[in-house]
Amino acid sequence: MVERVIEKVRAGERIDAAEALELYRDAPTPVLGQLAEAIRQRKHPDGVVTYIIDRNVNYTNICVAKCNFCAFYREVGSTEGYVLGFDELFRKIDETIAVGGVQLLLQGGHNPDLPLTWYEDLFRAVKQRYPEFKLHALSPPEVVHLSRLSQLPVPTIIDRLIAAGLDSIPGGGAEILVDRVRTLLHCYGKATSDEWLDVMRHAHRKGLRTTATMMYGTVETDEERLEHLLRLRALQDETGGFTAFITWSYQPDHTELAGTEATGIDYLRTLAIARIVLDNFDNLQASWVTQGGKVGQLSLAFGANDMGSVMIEENVVRAAGAAYCMDEAEIVRNIEDAGFVAKRRNMHYEILGDPVFRERDVPRMLELATARADGDTSVPAELRLYPARSQAGKAARLP
Ligand code: SF4
Repeated sequence: MVERVIEKVRAGERIDAAEALELYRDAPTPVLGQLAEAIRQRKHPDGVVTYIIDRNVNYTNICVAKCNFCAFYREVGSTEGYVLGFDELFRKIDETIAVGGVQLLLQGGHNPDLPLTWYEDLFRAVKQRYPEFKLHALSPPEVVHLSRLSQLPVPTIIDRLIAAGLDSIPGGGAEILVDRVRTLLHCYGKATSDEWLDVMRHAHRKGLRTTATMMYGTVETDEERLEHLLRLRALQDETGGFTAFITWSYQPDHTELAGTEATGIDYLRTLAIARIVLDNFDNLQASWVTQGGKVGQLSLAFGANDMGSVMIEENVVRAAGAAYCMDEAEIVRNIEDAGFVAKRRNMHYEILGDPVFRERDVPRMLELATARADGDTSVPAELRLYPARSQAGKAARLP
């Protein structure tokens, strides 16, 4: 009986897989929302909803993983493939700092022609120029890719990246942490469920905080969505290293997998069940980039307490058809119109202050910036200093 599970959640008790499934399938949407909202209120009684000003930069779109749900990657040797130069990245950081930004969310494809030393040199160069600026970089599959490429164990890769300046790890590439699903999505090879969790386990043990994500709405069952959440909950019990959970729906445009996008109601129900199951996570983000500002705002009544990142740049879900965009003023308006107080935060969810645009003039960023201008195929000068592995990469680096 779903009423029994509802009472259990109201009493603040933890629910198991069978109970979560019953709730997810049978509870009316307003009831799920009320349960999630009560948890948000208990965890965040001050009525504050946070957001971060950072920039989502994709340093390369060249990827050997070839996940079938991804519209962003290009194959090795593609004329549309790119690697950003250090100078381009510095310019993006300058622009981010100009609008009050505090970090880069730096992720990219599994490029066989970028050795570990390229990442180390980049991180060191960033930290030398911008000592206070944070690097929230390299999702677990990218760490696994570097481990395979350099034939070094994951803990060594993490140690070296931390020594070079890595501050925290984003929870991308989790999709659904069930290997049956990962096989069907062609992303089993990039990192298995256990490998994804293991990178996070090692990172947490070394004192790094990370986020966790879930991309739903492809081929998974309800049970598998919940198994994903329960695996995250178990690791959080073990390490306590996750700062936040973010879920978004699969964006089907221009992908090999194709299909249709999940509905807004499916999103709100999934967010609410995540808020209920993930009782040991403090923060849940609203995914307005895929859902739009209005569903993003509604998320605040379904368990979310954070509006994520001001969108200065986004390339990945945009390639798959989602193109919602909000700058700081828009995010703050959505938060305040929903009856909350808007505060800026860092990756550790420490409050940094009130909205920047109320303190000083900042440029409004209503146009999505992309990684590179269309047609720019230039090879950054410093790339020639690093050995390439692929034939195409070697040829591109010849003088
Ligand atoms: S989702 Fe990431 S790993 Fe998979 S193909 Fe796209 S860029 Fe590569």
